[in-house]
Amino acid sequence: MAEPLPLYRGDLPAEIAAAYANSTQIAVDTETTGLNMWRDRLCLVQLTDEHGQLSLVQILPGTRPDRLLDLLTDPGKLKIFHFARFDVTRIKQIYGVTVAPIFCTKIASKMCRTSTDRHGLKDLVQNIVGVSLDKEKQTSDWGADTLSPEQLHYAASDVLYLIAIKETLTEMLKREGRLEMAESCFNFMATLAEFDRLGWEGIFEH
Ligand code: MN
Repeated sequence: MAEPLPLYRGDLPAEIAAAYANSTQIAVDTETTGLNMWRDRLCLVQLTDEHGQLSLVQILPGTRPDRLLDLLTDPGKLKIFHFARFDVTRIKQIYGVTVAPIFCTKIASKMCRTSTDRHGLKDLVQNIVGVSLDKEKQTSDWGADTLSPEQLHYAASDVLYLIAIKETLTEMLKREGRLEMAESCFNFMATLAEFDRLGWEGIFEH
């Protein structure tokens, strides 16, 4: 039976934000009403740190989650995403802030798990952690005012394994001599997100 998860409306409460003071790694994911950044709304931001401190922040239209944004822009905390490009672009577009520093498990996987072309989160969780993620709630109504326990558990499961995956991928990148190139790529993500946000396409094509 599912226990209730720590859901906060609008922003992290001050005492919860303070409890992340000693975190150096924060796994992050977001849920939206769709993938179109001009049309669709950011609804939920999920966080967990290396101490397993989980928070789900429901984004309320017209309010700014200042304490959440402070964490996401804290230079002393590495933010770990799966496909950071999307989340970093959205957060910049909505709030005008740059999420940094970051680690992207999708790029990392593409750079070291070269024996496969399966780099989805479900694939990484299955292969690295040995857990089968249920993606059934992925396309549910994240804009709902009241999110169901099933939605919240799904949302939490998207960040729960990211730090463990990042550790494994980092070791593989080191082994292959590609960690520096991966880090350089993560540092470039803010610029790539800015190109996306400004509507540039194919800037690296001939
Ligand atoms: Mn997700």
